[in-house]
Amino acid sequence: MKDYRNHLLGTALLLSLFFLFSGAIPVKEDWGFFGHRRINRLAVFTLPPELIPLYKNQIEYITEHAVDPDKRRYATKHEAVRHYIDIDHWGVFPFAGVPRTWSKALQKYTEFYAVTNKGDTLELMNYKKARWTDSDITWKGRHLKKVTSRDSLIFDEESYGQFFKEAILPQYYEDEWKIEPTLLADLLELNAFPENVKEILAVDRFSEYGILPYHLLKMQQRLTRAFQDKDPQKIIQLSSEFGHYIGDAHVPLHTTENYNGQMTNQIGIHAFWESRIPELFADTEFDYFVGKAEYIEDPQDYYWKIVLKSHSYLDSLLAYEIRLKNEFPPDRQFCYEDRNGRTIRTQCKEYSEAYHKMLGGQVESRMRGSILSVGSAWYTAWVDAGQPDLSDLMNTNAPEAEVIEARPNLSDKEREKARGH
Ligand SMILES: [Zn+2]
Repeated sequence: MKDYRNHLLGTALLLSLFFLFSGAIPVKEDWGFFGHRRINRLAVFTLPPELIPLYKNQIEYITEHAVDPDKRRYATKHEAVRHYIDIDHWGVFPFAGVPRTWSKALQKYTEFYAVTNKGDTLELMNYKKARWTDSDITWKGRHLKKVTSRDSLIFDEESYGQFFKEAILPQYYEDEWKIEPTLLADLLELNAFPENVKEILAVDRFSEYGILPYHLLKMQQRLTRAFQDKDPQKIIQLSSEFGHYIGDAHVPLHTTENYNGQMTNQIGIHAFWESRIPELFADTEFDYFVGKAEYIEDPQDYYWKIVLKSHSYLDSLLAYEIRLKNEFPPDRQFCYEDRNGRTIRTQCKEYSEAYHKMLGGQVESRMRGSILSVGSAWYTAWVDAGQPDLSDLMNTNAPEAEVIEARPNLSDKEREKARGH
């Protein structure tokens, strides 16, 4: 028994050394690596003449590094959540209760606790119990918000937003968000908290369910800035990563808690839809002519519409797979294939084709949508930056490849979720 365990340990050590030196981290692919690379590559051809030379020059980098964000998913817990949003965790379509602005969403789903000198924790505001209503109190011409939670708290929504921006957002990447009790007391117009309150903790209940549409907006702003700075390496690096997240947003299973069919007894459907079908049919059957990149007037609205559209395909995607599983001869559903010298079990070609047909071109249309959106996002960043002349940036080298290391202390839950998505 002991020997066996030592052997396992040795293997694990060897494996981790291997990945350390090869720079590779074994990740579950999304859109398949194949799909992400294809989307980024084809997006280059949607661009106008002013942009095409720079992007074409770096097309190998843009294609290859389309998958960097996935390789990074295990490196920090903040990366994994950028690839999805479990929007159905927060309500029902069209999820009007979920604020479309990141800081507002975070404000809504943050909880507050008071920690006493003795280490006891007292709940101050629990987002599930909190009811936000207009009070009849007016202050400086504004209606104050009344939050009924454990106690009834009354404060001004704008001041809360300001407090959040100053006291909490700068701590976003910290493991714990700590707030000076006096700051919160000021907000609540309390004189002070009782003396035995040592500190206030704020707890983010939002991010773990995914922040994809908010991250897209952030990427849009970062790419715009890179164009303003005329920084060719940043432009290329951000463009290829931006393409990845836009691709993810087009995948219905990136918008649900049931991301791998685990809630409906359909485990494996994620890779079936976004990896297996494109691998089999993208080269022979998909039509990639998507037209020219378009200017995006309202990026926030645009990215949310993509996510909601993706989500609207979920019901059919799940229902068809169940129907197919029941109708198709069970012994012809899974086949064994050789992949890089390893035998893997995967959906048979005929079975995949039947699903692809049932979906009526859904995978193809989401992939086409991805290509057009990626080109449009790049183009929009350039327009918003004032359409800088890029002709003098032509002879720059590709950005340096990022070194990606796995974070060893990722919890099992974080790892599982990063993998599943
Ligand atoms: Zn991803």
